Amino acid sequence: MAIASDRPPTDGAAQAAAGTPAAPASPSSTVDRGPLDAHALRAEFPILGTTAHGKPLVYLDSAATSQKPLAVIEAMDTYYREYNANVHRGIYQIGERATAGYEAARASVARFINAPSPREIVFTRNATEAINLVAASWGRKNIGRGDAIILTEMEHHANLVPWQILVQERDADLEFIPITDDGILRLDVFEVLLRLKPKLVAFTHVSNTLGTINPVAEMTALAHAAGALVLVDGAQAVPHVPVDVAAIGADFYVFSGHKMLGPTGSGALWGRRELLDAMPPYMAGGEMIREVHLRRSEFNEVPWKFEAGTPDIAAAIGFGAAAEYLMALGMGRVQAHEHELIVYAMDALRREFPNLDLYGPPADARGGVIPFNVPGVHPHDVAQVLDRSGVAVRAGHHCTMPLHERLDLVATARASFNVYSTREDVDQLIVGLREVYRLFA
Ligand code: PMP
Repeated sequence: MAIASDRPPTDGAAQAAAGTPAAPASPSSTVDRGPLDAHALRAEFPILGTTAHGKPLVYLDSAATSQKPLAVIEAMDTYYREYNANVHRGIYQIGERATAGYEAARASVARFINAPSPREIVFTRNATEAINLVAASWGRKNIGRGDAIILTEMEHHANLVPWQILVQERDADLEFIPITDDGILRLDVFEVLLRLKPKLVAFTHVSNTLGTINPVAEMTALAHAAGALVLVDGAQAVPHVPVDVAAIGADFYVFSGHKMLGPTGSGALWGRRELLDAMPPYMAGGEMIREVHLRRSEFNEVPWKFEAGTPDIAAAIGFGAAAEYLMALGMGRVQAHEHELIVYAMDALRREFPNLDLYGPPADARGGVIPFNVPGVHPHDVAQVLDRSGVAVRAGHHCTMPLHERLDLVATARASFNVYSTREDVDQLIVGLREVYRLFA
């Protein structure tokens, strides 16, 4: 017997076309196609007008999570005020509007990464859940005794621990592409490792700790030539560089909405349709089924097969609004703005503090992240002094303990940028660091 309330949703793209349009990008985003005006943009991020310890907030922890523009906050607010209802269920006006808004968001996210179809986008809570989904579903089905999976030494724990658990369970093997001291992947060693005929190669697009932008299309082509599938962790790429999954050619691409101006609780897995179709469900329950009988069930089509239970509808709608907002800005302009800022910051830091330890590749190979240490001062102390100046940076291992071990570091401080970051933010970081040197050095 079919369960009426769990009717399989109709085609997402069709719903999107018929339904609620994606939230419009804010006007200041769309007018000027010259270089990005981050100063004008900041007015659209309410939190950037607040203070910390009585000083204007200087937010340099965007790699942990980004701040949110009004376009995102208001899209979610409108959902809760005007059409809060569950999706794919209600045969009434606001239920249909909620479904259309949710599926329109999926279409926006698909367009943002140039996915061939919204049906290939699975909404998750974050990048971590997307990787766990692939490890548990594709991994359990396809990884057996003695199989090899290749990762890199610079992976976030989210793209390491799920694979550790899988290979322990399956008696399979992990191998790692090493890095140079500057944090660049050793592709010569990768080519040697590929002789092991791995089943999967999984690597980050942009390092969350060093900022290294990896040559993902080249690496994907090498892995495919060796017969491996490829998963790319795009959590730190989608906020900063144009991403085209069709051009990269990988099999899975995962990312978080909350690092690309969207709300927490939003993330996505993009996967090739034929792979997603062949994968067993990850979680089971309502929404992911077509028919349920007491002793057996038939599953829904992708992507809904992987979205058991009531999803975070507001987060998905905010995620779609963030994708539309960034597309209206133009990711090429976002990348150019952040690159200019990285060059400015690295030059200024080197000039002001000649003995400051800066890690990672040259500015040209780097996304919006600068890890550093003040010699002889623990990064937690550095972050605490900076905080008193209103400057928020992260200190610790940034969920890359093996990378820190490889570089012989206990911890680092990390300044990270996003589209709303400015030279004035960097100048305030330098003012705060002068205070660190005055107190400790
Ligand atoms: N991968 C990378 C490269 C990351 O930077 C992060 C977040 N720091 C993640 C994965 C995990 O993202 P989330 O916490 O949103 O799941």
